[in-house]
Amino acid sequence: MTTQEHSAHQITTMCPMNCHPTQCGMTVTVQDRTLLTIKGDPQHPESHGFLCQRGHATREIFHNPKRLLTPLRRVGPRGGQKWEACSWDEALEMMVEAIEQTQRDRVGIWRGHGVGTTGVNTPLISRFATLGGMQNWSSSIVCWALGGYGLALTGVLEANAKEDMAANAQTILFWGATFSSQPTTAAHLIEAHKRGAHVVQIDTRRTELSPHADQIFLLRPGSDAALALALAHVITTEDLVDHAFLNDHTLGFTAFAEHLQAFTPEWGAAITGLAAEDIRALARLYARQTPAMIVLGGSSMFKHQHGWEASRAIACLPALTGQLGKIGTGFGPRHGAYSHSDDYASVLADVLRPQGDYVPSHMASIAEALDAEKIDVFWLLGSNILSSFANTNHLAQGLSKVKLIVAYDLFMNETIRSSADVILPGTAWLEELGLKQTASHIYLMEQVLPPEGEARPLSTILPELANRLSIPNVFPWKDQEDYINTLLSAQRMANGQALTVAELRRMGGYWKRSHHSPVAYPDYRFHTPSGKVEFWSERAQKVGLSALPSYTEPERSASPATPLRFCQGRTLSAFHAFYDEGQALPLLARANPAPELWIHPRDARKRQLKTGDQVLIANERGQFEAVALVTEAVLRGVVWMRDGWSGLNKLTSGNPALTRTASDAVAGIPGGQAAYDAWVEVSPIHS
Ligand code: SF4
Repeated sequence: MTTQEHSAHQITTMCPMNCHPTQCGMTVTVQDRTLLTIKGDPQHPESHGFLCQRGHATREIFHNPKRLLTPLRRVGPRGGQKWEACSWDEALEMMVEAIEQTQRDRVGIWRGHGVGTTGVNTPLISRFATLGGMQNWSSSIVCWALGGYGLALTGVLEANAKEDMAANAQTILFWGATFSSQPTTAAHLIEAHKRGAHVVQIDTRRTELSPHADQIFLLRPGSDAALALALAHVITTEDLVDHAFLNDHTLGFTAFAEHLQAFTPEWGAAITGLAAEDIRALARLYARQTPAMIVLGGSSMFKHQHGWEASRAIACLPALTGQLGKIGTGFGPRHGAYSHSDDYASVLADVLRPQGDYVPSHMASIAEALDAEKIDVFWLLGSNILSSFANTNHLAQGLSKVKLIVAYDLFMNETIRSSADVILPGTAWLEELGLKQTASHIYLMEQVLPPEGEARPLSTILPELANRLSIPNVFPWKDQEDYINTLLSAQRMANGQALTVAELRRMGGYWKRSHHSPVAYPDYRFHTPSGKVEFWSERAQKVGLSALPSYTEPERSASPATPLRFCQGRTLSAFHAFYDEGQALPLLARANPAPELWIHPRDARKRQLKTGDQVLIANERGQFEAVALVTEAVLRGVVWMRDGWSGLNKLTSGNPALTRTASDAVAGIPGGQAAYDAWVEVSPIHS
């Protein structure tokens, strides 16, 4: 141990949560390889010392009695909660034996947010799975990917910087986005508001953002595409378009304008529940009080059968008004948005996938493959899949048919308790070397603590498994730093040399991404085959979707017995199902004692409910218990809850949002999300 390790010293790192586009800097104090404090990093160029409750709670990961510290194997039946410690050698050998007894494409790998905490594991897992000929599924299908799919069809995936919004936008539509999902955007929005920018909130409920908005439009869930098309109708019929931009940078405007004739404000009003005059006024505001920016939600607003139609239609608005490639315009920060800058180098470029029967990242197909006994070994990495998938009854049924389920994680969770056979203890972010990438920067995350117990990082487990399974070339690097240097090799320093971990260290751990532009699409080359914004999309047409942006009426309740539309989203005190639904970390457990269901006062009165009452949420798929919160923050006929509670998604539909073929229409952005729609009834539980 060095002299420095004996004395208390500070290191800057990043919060391990993955609340993209927010990523906050941390200052940790360590002495004798023990963590003393975690604080916000005041020098951090983006978060400026901010750390939310979730970030502070990460301190409680260490020396936590609930932490998984040794490999475990199940004793007795699945779900019986009996485990015995085993060695790493035994645990890995169980995996290897099971994999060798089956075909490689009958091995599934599902990586959750939990292995994204250091930002460098995901490419490595993909490399292992691809070279090994295993199923390599992307959990973006429970998150941002369906919204990204719609944006990609139109071709607008890059986002302008939050700093650009603060300085330049005159009108800001915060559309389905919340401060809970991007806390560091809040200060920039407030700055813009103080400067005089007009802020409009468009959402299905009131949120922490609402007090900062000049106008609030609460829409019926699932009607965002209808609003976007009605706004586009007003913009085109009142000739508020930018003709030069349309001529130079778009495809299919004439057909789109014709198509829009039917989508009048009155049509939009009947669907969204807004007033037609409000839709007209909003379209004029967006087109005239410029530059105008849209900060689009990352995930929850797209969680319904036709969610991708919303982002596809909304992406047309900046193009119609010529608000792309300029300051204060386009889209603001968003989970999954592309940055106009150099990225990491791909470590999949040299990788060939063997022939196999591969199931795409398509939720319904994955559930079906499990149920049809096509998967013999399932490796869950940092995931509580029974909280995040839709229609988890079907998923649980599929999991019960898998011969060996292995989980790699920090803490137990519902999926592990009910379904795992082997548990591998994972390292936390301060116990391994990593990086975090934001839209504008890359940050170094040093290893400052030894792994607790017998926890191991994936950078040692994957090469070890590859070796035992004779999968060549999985980790052709000397060590983790050498691997990370390869990721960094696409970043160019001023002297033309590639960035390295050593250089990052020398610079204090912060790096502004090379060739970064705070304005998206400064070159007007959009993410479509034509390089133009595509109102009319051949890619869509080829896979059986409408060639032009569309709106499909959401499914109505199948029964009068379930009249309430159920929606879910994020709060500031939780991050999906992280850390055993927050219950493993005392700070988050206190903030999240039980599931809470928001219900409108009139709906509550009808059911004789008041705040604090225990309620049963039920539909044809299942039941879930919660505590009622009676609030006007939700619309009548809608109930809302934060996501991440295991059992909640028993209620939601696992129908695919897109067919398997259509879901693959956009390279790199799987449209494989399930619908997640749910209509429910809520009733009091009388004790
Ligand atoms: S907002 Fe909170 S959880 Fe998210 S990165 Fe910042 S500190 Fe971490």
